[in-house]
Amino acid sequence: MTEMRLTVAQPLEIPQNLLMLGVGGAGMAPLAIYLAQTGHCISGFDDNFQGSVRDLLRGHNIQLYEGGGFPETVDAVIYSSAVKPEHPLMQQAVEKGIPCLRRGHLLARLADEKKLLAVVGSHGKTTTTGMLIHRLRQSDFDFSYVLGGFFQGTSLPPARYSPSSEWLVAEVDESDGTIDNFHPELTLALNVDWDHPSQYPTAKDLETTFEQLFKRTRGAVWIPEGDKALAQVARASQCRPLRTFSPGGYSNSIGEVEKPRSSAAAFNIWNATAAQELSEVLCGVSGTASEVLAEFPGISRRQELLYAKESLTVIHDYAHHPAEVVALMELTRRSFPDSRLTVIFQPHRYTRTEQYACEFARVLGAADRLFLLDVYSAGELPLPGGHIDSILQALCDDAAAKTSFVLQWGSLVPALQRSVQRPEVMLFIGAGDIDRAARAYAAVLTHPQDTGRQWLDCMQALVSSDTRLKLDEPLSNKTTLGIGGRARCYANPANRSDLHTLVCTAALFGLEIFHLGRGSNLIVPDEGFDGLVIRLSHSYWRRIEPLSDGRLHCGAGVRLKELCARACRLGLGGMEFLEGIPGSLGGALRMNAGAMGGWIFDIVETVELMTPDGQIHFLNREAFQVGYRECRELREGLALGATLRSPRRTPREGIKVQLDSLASRRKKTQPCEPSAGCIFKNPSQELSAGDLIDRSGLKGKRIGRAEVSPVHANFIINRGGATCAEVVALMREVRATVKTRQGVVLEPEVGLLGKRWEQLLKG
Ligand code: FAD
Repeated sequence: MTEMRLTVAQPLEIPQNLLMLGVGGAGMAPLAIYLAQTGHCISGFDDNFQGSVRDLLRGHNIQLYEGGGFPETVDAVIYSSAVKPEHPLMQQAVEKGIPCLRRGHLLARLADEKKLLAVVGSHGKTTTTGMLIHRLRQSDFDFSYVLGGFFQGTSLPPARYSPSSEWLVAEVDESDGTIDNFHPELTLALNVDWDHPSQYPTAKDLETTFEQLFKRTRGAVWIPEGDKALAQVARASQCRPLRTFSPGGYSNSIGEVEKPRSSAAAFNIWNATAAQELSEVLCGVSGTASEVLAEFPGISRRQELLYAKESLTVIHDYAHHPAEVVALMELTRRSFPDSRLTVIFQPHRYTRTEQYACEFARVLGAADRLFLLDVYSAGELPLPGGHIDSILQALCDDAAAKTSFVLQWGSLVPALQRSVQRPEVMLFIGAGDIDRAARAYAAVLTHPQDTGRQWLDCMQALVSSDTRLKLDEPLSNKTTLGIGGRARCYANPANRSDLHTLVCTAALFGLEIFHLGRGSNLIVPDEGFDGLVIRLSHSYWRRIEPLSDGRLHCGAGVRLKELCARACRLGLGGMEFLEGIPGSLGGALRMNAGAMGGWIFDIVETVELMTPDGQIHFLNREAFQVGYRECRELREGLALGATLRSPRRTPREGIKVQLDSLASRRKKTQPCEPSAGCIFKNPSQELSAGDLIDRSGLKGKRIGRAEVSPVHANFIINRGGATCAEVVALMREVRATVKTRQGVVLEPEVGLLGKRWEQLLKG
């Protein structure tokens, strides 16, 4: 792929059908909504959506691309800086000759159609733009806007297109260099602190970029009074007219009215002042910064108050630059002067951590207690000096004494819980996924004794509304044997990103995860399962897509019966041996299910799996160690789907005859009552567990409502109302009798939820 194709910056007509990659991001989603309102047909893809963003986009008629082939009607691809050129969809677009544009280039093109009020700066752009938008909307001013984030709650959408207004209010991002394409009518610059070293090798480079923007600004440029760096930039640019803004008294976001002591700590009032000033310019509305702050709904992930009760406060903020962190900490200190300040910090990007390790250490050292989480990579490759230990090393001895280095999310919440000292503020800081930890901790505080409610509260805020979440969900109706209790937490994820969130968040609640398929090889204890059961039975996981060369790509939730029927219709022979196995593809891969001398891994080409840390891998068949009813890599990993290859083309009729004959054979040789299939493994190829049990005279043996099937001795059937205790007691009896009479110890083939067979069968 040539870089040329990716950096189209010339003016161009914006094509009608746009595919937006990274559409779940705070910069992309508002732009997608704006474009949809202008009448473009937008589809979007993201590897990692927040649930509420997914819902928001769908509510604005944006079609979310969920995998499969490249969408057919795409005229151009718009991508965010989080999307790398190696991304498979980017590669496919380039192969098809479809132009790819950066988000910033497209926004610049849209801005050229309007008078742009550009909000720029290293920090505070989104909050200030949000305040300005809120103020202008309160005043019924007609304008278009594109925010680079989301308002808290649902009061305001993050973008709006007005065909009747000439004004567009938008924040302009400097991080990827696309700022060079903007020609604002008015510019509001908040600060210029060096960041993004890969784009701006020196602070001077960033300043020059702002200088050029000021030069291109047709009307006035606003900067904060007393900001020496920006004043210098403005002087160099010779921009006219130059205006300054400065606050008087103000009320901070958490309540009281104060005089700003330092520009860093008083960032909210400076932002509100700027918003008020520019509102006055645009629509003549007068007022004070305090008025702006009083009704402002807030920006998602900015000083978000997640819990406040009995002198314990939990706040999350997106700050990720030392200047932002220091401002936030100062504001919090002044808002809660008597509270102990505990900071939980997750650095964002290895490059920034390397660049600012010493500054972070200096700033964070002011906390009373500090917990450090590992760096959130945001897709970057690790850098030697970019890890958390660089910050740890830079912390002076004194600060290091109050620092805890937390790598495992599972240990974070208990560590915070252990040593609460009220009054206390827990400040979760970072632009990565630390918001999940903050929400989890707030949920733990809200429902102190109830892990289920904690999990449900937190997950409802994080996953999309299509994902089904339940507490105390019965499991007996989700297994073929039909016994057992309930799952404390249960989820039926509707897409990959919700699944990712579920998997990565469970540890925060100390929840063990179990992946349930069709439950056809599973025994559920009567007392149920005290963890999280995840089941891929949503239609998202049940798609079968025919590929070239006799291959099929199937989601893990596809039933083997559906797979056989589809292969038959397509004339794909060699999969018939799966007929009659009542499982899902995921369960079949985990168990390497098979019959009639064939195993599922005989027809596997690749498997897509998710590891417990949420990483997704595409592995070829050769990467798997499989054996009799076993796939080692899936003991921990979760299969999301697989590409299967049919060994031969076969006329449909031939396959049909084969399927019918296998089905009728099963009917004759296996019981029709509820069962979990074969209970014990065959001890060897020559020795069948069923024969050994039969020869021991156990067919028809019953304990309670559980019975050794008179049709197939290796099946235990549920005569109606059997319990797990009865099934286990019968298994013990069968084992003991076979051991005594045949001299063979049978090992269970069937799985046991949440327990080990050794515990239940010993003795
Ligand atoms: P479940 O029973 O739900 O789970 C089985 C295991 O797979 C569990 O450890 C679970 O955690 C794991 N798992 C589930 N989904 C995933 C996933 N997506 N990723 C990773 N792990 C996962 N089996 C045979 O091999 N051959 C047969 O001929 C056969 N005949 C049967 C006949 C009957 C009447 C019955 C009831 C069962 C039979 N079985 C047979 C057993 C069973 O159908 C298979 O083992 C099947 O593959 C289990 O799939 P499942 O979706 O029901 O998995």
